[in-house]
Amino acid sequence: MAASSIQQIINEGLCIGCGLCASVFSEKVNIELSVGGLRPKENKCLTEKELRYLSSFCPGVVQSGMPNKYLSEGVQIDPVWGPIERICAAHASNDSVRHKSATGGVLTALAGFLIESKMVDAVLHVGPSGLKPYFGHSTISYTLSEVNENCASIYASTSPLDKIKKVLDEGIRVALVAKPCDISAMRLLAKKDPRVDKYIPLMLSPFCGGFFPPFAMSNFFQSEGVREEEVDSVSYRGNGCPGPTSIKLNNGSRIEKSYLDFWGTDSSQWHMPWRCRVCPDGTGEGADISTGDTWPECTPTKEMINNDLGTNTVIARTSKGAELLQFAEGSGYLTLDYECVPSDMNKLQPHLANKKIKALARFDGMRSCGQAGLSTIDLRADLLTQSVSSHEFKKESNGTAARIKKGKHLDDYEIK
Ligand SMILES: Cc1cc2nc3c(=O)[nH]c(=O)nc-3n(C[C@H](O)[C@H](O)[C@H](O)COP(=O)(O)OP(=O)(O)OC[C@H]3O[C@@H](n4cnc5c(N)ncnc54)[C@H](O)[C@@H]3O)c2cc1C
Ligand code: SF4
Ligand code: SF4
Repeated sequence: MAASSIQQIINEGLCIGCGLCASVFSEKVNIELSVGGLRPKENKCLTEKELRYLSSFCPGVVQSGMPNKYLSEGVQIDPVWGPIERICAAHASNDSVRHKSATGGVLTALAGFLIESKMVDAVLHVGPSGLKPYFGHSTISYTLSEVNENCASIYASTSPLDKIKKVLDEGIRVALVAKPCDISAMRLLAKKDPRVDKYIPLMLSPFCGGFFPPFAMSNFFQSEGVREEEVDSVSYRGNGCPGPTSIKLNNGSRIEKSYLDFWGTDSSQWHMPWRCRVCPDGTGEGADISTGDTWPECTPTKEMINNDLGTNTVIARTSKGAELLQFAEGSGYLTLDYECVPSDMNKLQPHLANKKIKALARFDGMRSCGQAGLSTIDLRADLLTQSVSSHEFKKESNGTAARIKKGKHLDDYEIK
């Protein structure tokens, strides 16, 4: 179903601020700072035809897995974890990349290899800061040192796709590193715009459980006795696995907290945007390679925080992704540690499996409140829903509806 306006998508709590609408409709839409983070604003109304086009790719309307045409015949498709050419553990072979990166540096090592081997001209990914010092911003890295500079995870509002127009119009061949919802948007845009496949031959993604909305960062600063105006930048993780969350102040001093102080020890308590709470795929099914952490239940123990050198779990979903792993290993960029099986992922990433399985029940709750809500493509949502009992389905649907009636989906809910 087509959205009636961008504001409707925002009002339903489903805009993630990816920036693709501002890139595709650059004459009419801007990304601006809003209470929920980066959000698009229609300066001139989109026509009905434009809204239909937007609704075909916008992650606030639809999320996609991997379209069939990119998959090898007979590839293993796990009901929860999606297409799998290869699933293994790995880390960057370069020790300083491994240390500086979020986990084991797999994304940075692959991005670096792609640039150095000239398989792409550049890497479109995300660097720190932006409209707020603790946000991220999209950046095009042309050299190995730029790629390495922009490593690590930014757990805050970011618009990774706001430079897609530049990439496509100028014909820059890039590897895209972006979250699963962003990758979905690009796979769907590729169905309409053939330049996507031509100029973005590889898409890589971190697993993604969500990020901190602005109100949660304000609370975090407050708890540290810091005013937002005093903040120069934030490094969420990296320099270890996961490494400290480090707030750099304008006066040059730093406040360092552990990953567990920042996130807490219980994933059900994580603050995140509403869109992330109802996300049907944080596993990056649309990416050629997706990768994440290797801690049980995605939470490091204190001992791991002190001693983990950083190892990623890696899923290659296409033959292109599997070949990239092989080439990067053969060229000394990547060290492959051991092979895994999909059921390992249930122990490492239970929150991602849970959200995926319950997605349709949650969408049902949205629709019961009159929202247009989300839909999915190529994510086996109907099949996954068969594992939800009718009692559980109703409970999830009613729970979602109750939260929407309280306004919990609204960007300004926590600060009202
Ligand atoms: C918002 C978010 C939520 C996450 N949730 C989970 C989770 O639930 N489970 C899990 O196992 N792992 C999660 N991760 C992934 C994890 O933090 C690591 O990114 C992943 O393991 C890859 O590690 P790496 O060392 O290979 O990455 P690195 O080599 O450090 O490279 C990270 C790459 O990601 C890009 N990037 C950083 N932040 C963003 C962003 N906000 N949007 C788009 N691109 C970005 C960087 O530019 C860089 O290219 C999350 C990451 C993010 C950004
Ligand atoms: S999710 Fe992305 S494409 Fe959709 S409205 Fe928000 S910024 Fe635009
Ligand atoms: S949890 Fe889902 S919607 Fe939220 S940033 Fe991650 S992939 Fe996007």
